[in-house]
Parts: sequence; C-alpha cells; structure tokens
Amino acid sequence: MRNRSIRFKMTCWLSLVLAVMVCAVFLILYLTSRLILNRTARNYLSGMVMENTNKISFVSTLGRDGDSLYLPYQDGYLEIDLDFLDVVGDVHAGLYTGDGAMLYGENPLYRYQAPGFTAEKLWYFHVDGQRYALYDLPLTVSPELEPLWIRGIVQETQGAALLRQTTGTALTILPFLLAICVLSGYMLSGKLLSPIRRIESTAERISKGGDLKQRIDMGESRDEIGRLASVFNSMLNRLELVFEAERQFTADASHELRTPTSVILAQADYSLEKERTVDEYQDALRVIRRQGRRMEALIRDMLDLSRIDQGKDAFPMEAVDLSQLVSEASEPVWPEDEASIRISADIQPGVMMQGNCLLLSRMIQNLISNAYKYGKPGGHIAVSLQKTSSEIRLQVRDDGIGIAHQDQEKIFQRFYRCDPSRSVQSTGLGLPMVKEIAELHGGRVSVDSAPGQGSAFSVIFSQNNPSLS
Ligand code: ADP
Repeated sequence: MRNRSIRFKMTCWLSLVLAVMVCAVFLILYLTSRLILNRTARNYLSGMVMENTNKISFVSTLGRDGDSLYLPYQDGYLEIDLDFLDVVGDVHAGLYTGDGAMLYGENPLYRYQAPGFTAEKLWYFHVDGQRYALYDLPLTVSPELEPLWIRGIVQETQGAALLRQTTGTALTILPFLLAICVLSGYMLSGKLLSPIRRIESTAERISKGGDLKQRIDMGESRDEIGRLASVFNSMLNRLELVFEAERQFTADASHELRTPTSVILAQADYSLEKERTVDEYQDALRVIRRQGRRMEALIRDMLDLSRIDQGKDAFPMEAVDLSQLVSEASEPVWPEDEASIRISADIQPGVMMQGNCLLLSRMIQNLISNAYKYGKPGGHIAVSLQKTSSEIRLQVRDDGIGIAHQDQEKIFQRFYRCDPSRSVQSTGLGLPMVKEIAELHGGRVSVDSAPGQGSAFSVIFSQNNPSLS
C-alpha cells in the first residue's frame, strides 16, 4: 500500500468510509424499523389475547346465559362470552388445548401443523412464502385442569413486507452504489491531484533537461496546492538566481585568472627563447612574481567568498568585541608606500555583538585596505565605531580618489573594478565579501563618495537584529 499512488489510496479510503457509512445508516434504519414493527405487532396481538382471557371460564353445569356459548370440556363446560374477539382486522385469535387442538376462535394456519406454544413472546412462523407473527398466552381455567392457550396470529403487515422488500432492494443496489462511489472517488481524486502531477512533471522536466526557467502554471489558484506550487516556483526562482550567479562567478573567475596565467607563460617563453641579460631575467621574474601574487590573492578571495556563500553554518557565532577588532585593524601597520597615509580611529569601547570574529575582522580589514589602496598620498583615513540605542555603525572614510556615481552600485558585484589597470593587487572581490559578511550578520553596507573627494563606507547593524543582543 505504501508504494501505491495517492490517487489509489484516496479512492480506497473514500470508498471504505462511504461503504461503512452507507452500511451503518442502512443498518440503523433497518433495526429501528424492525423494532417498531415488532413492537406494534406485539402490542396489537398481546392486547387482543389479553382481552380474550376475561371472556373464558370453566363451569361444571350448562348455564342459560344467552350472551355465552357453552363447550363441553373435561367433566364440565367452557363458558365463552360471545364477545370473544376471534377476528379483528388481520388479527386472528383462538382458544387451544395444550396439545394444539383448537377449541374455539379463528386460525388462519389451520391447514398446517400447529407449532408448539411459547408463553408471552412474539415469534414468527413462515409458511407458503408468508410470514406470520404469533403470540401465546396460557390460561388456567381450573386449578385441576391443564392450562389452555389463547393464541393470536397476524399475517406480516404491509410495513414489514415493505421493510423486507426495501432491505432486499438496498442489498441489490449497494454494490452499484459502492461502484459509483469508487468511480467518482477515483475521478475526483484525479482532478484534485492533477496540479500535483503538473508539479511533478515540471520537476521531472527540470531534472532531465536542467532548464531552470520552467515554472508551474497554476493560474489564480490560491488553495493549498496553489500555494505549494507558488512556493515551488519561488524556490525555482531562487535556484535559478543561485545557478546563474554560480555560472557568472565561474566565467568571471576563469577570465580573471587567464590574464596573469598568460602573462606568466609569456614571460617564461620570453626568458627561454634565447639567452638574456641578468637584468632582463630579473625583470621577467619580477613580472612573474607580481602576477603570481595576483593569482594568489584571487584564489584566496574566491575561496573565502565560496566559504561565506555556504552561510552561517560554516562559521560559529559567538560574542565578539567589535571595538577591539576595529582598533586592532586601525593600527598603522601598512607597507611603506602607503605609510604616508595617516589613520585615526574614534572607537566607542565595549561594543559587543554576536558574530564570527574571523569574518568581522576580514570585513574591517577589506574596508581599511581599500581606503589605503585608493587613498591619496599624504591623505587621511578616519575609522569610527559607534553604538546607539538602535544600531551599531562602523564607518571607514578616506579622502582618496573617490568613486563615480555610476560605479557606486556596481562595486559590490564580484570582480567589478572601476579602473582594472590601477592595481595589480586588486581582485574586485573585497567589497562583495564585505557586503556578504555584513548581510550574514544581519547588517547592510552603503557608500557615500564623490570622485576626487574620497569615499565613506558604512556598515550598519540595526538594533532589532538578534546579532546585537
Ligand atoms: P579591489 O579593491 O580588490 O579591486 P573591491 O571589491 O574591494 O576590489 O573594490 C571594487 C572596486 O571599488 C575597486 O576596484 C575600486 O575601483 C573601488 N573602490 C573600493 N574601495 C574604494 C575606495 N575606498 N575608494 C575608491 N574606490 C574604491
């Protein structure tokens, strides 16, 4: 059953429930009607039989009462009132001896062997396709004599015959009724499950052809399956975005790595082509070293970014002293050619947040190293960290080359560089990493810049973010 289709299971369950319900209703109706009919027949018969008990007595001598009938019995007479009810409607009553011989009254079953007596109990007798209800009452006419019996007999009423007929008809049509239930259940479940089949076939088409552009068309449907399809479509949207980003990243990464690789190979070919002077060899080696460093930086940043892409699970979150991280990163420890740039820090002490120490210090370092890289000689970098009741704000401001308005959106895209010829150490991955780390901690990053006037990068973690608690 477990491997059967939902449609099959639904049909089975529906049919079973319907069958049980129909049978239960039918049974209840049948039993109640039978009970009512039995009770009516019993009351009817017992009433008439009881009535007759007062109309019979045993006398030793023949009386002269004109309202009575005298039947010789044993050593006396049975005095039977002429009011003895022998036939009332369909009901017949008679007076019998204990061995079944009728003394007086009416017996519609006189042609058949009279069945034995059962005291004060309604019972049935079947003969010639007819059903008779019988009710017997013993009557002691004299303490010396064997008791006599008064028996009431009624042929099954129309109601009871109708009941039996209805039962027969119901039992005949029940299988057809069930077949209709099964069929309609099968068709109904098929209709209900058709959107799920559409989801299944879309998923199958995607898994076979890999076309993530496929979507499930559910029209305006807002029921459970409609909502499932819309969740499925949003999942596909997300997957498509992720795959597209992945594809773009691979294409960009190979493109970025091709340039240093080509330069290194060209320098090696140049050196090996013929004998060169020491200076020429040294120049070639310096170029190779510079391109090697660029490749190293690219590979390191790409690996870091792909780890960050895996999400929070790859980085344990803990209480981080942000003030300490920012103040360590703001120490003037940069290489000599950048030393002419001054750095100052305005850090509010004891600013704590939940986060990953490694990632947060990487984010701060990227911002400060950019400020050095794109700062002007003899310029100034101002780092600030403030916590208010609503947010934590980290800002790195420089007075360097600045960023053109049209580039400010793009600098957070992977591998984007405003001026690719500017620095060999530039990978175009520093700011995307800053953005991802900020977002991983529930924050956001923004830039305020003007060409020639410098840039200010701000990272804001708002107070309703659980990282801050
Ligand atoms: P990278 O610095 O390695 O090129 P980033 O992603 O850090 O990569 O920066 C992307 C681009 O944004 C840089 O190439 C540069 O053009 C620009 N940029 C980043 N920070 C600054 C800054 N402080 N001042 C001016 N331009 C900047």
